[in-house]
Amino acid sequence: MNCPRCHGFLVAIQMRDMGQPSVTGWRCLLCGAMTDPGIEANKVSHSPPIRNGARLPGATAKRLKKERS
Ligand SMILES: [Zn+2]
Repeated sequence: MNCPRCHGFLVAIQMRDMGQPSVTGWRCLLCGAMTDPGIEANKVSHSPPIRNGARLPGATAKRLKKERS
């Protein structure tokens, strides 16, 4: 198995969370990226970011423009 970021070599590690049983995860020897089956499952089900919803700094809100015209 290769690292999803740099395609480096992954080694199995035991990942522990407070009060949770340890989970076998993976750590990249090159970039140090860590992942486990739960993280990978979240990446698959995560929806992509919406790019057109953000306002630029200093831009007027669309709602205010409509009220003026
Ligand atoms: Zn890596």
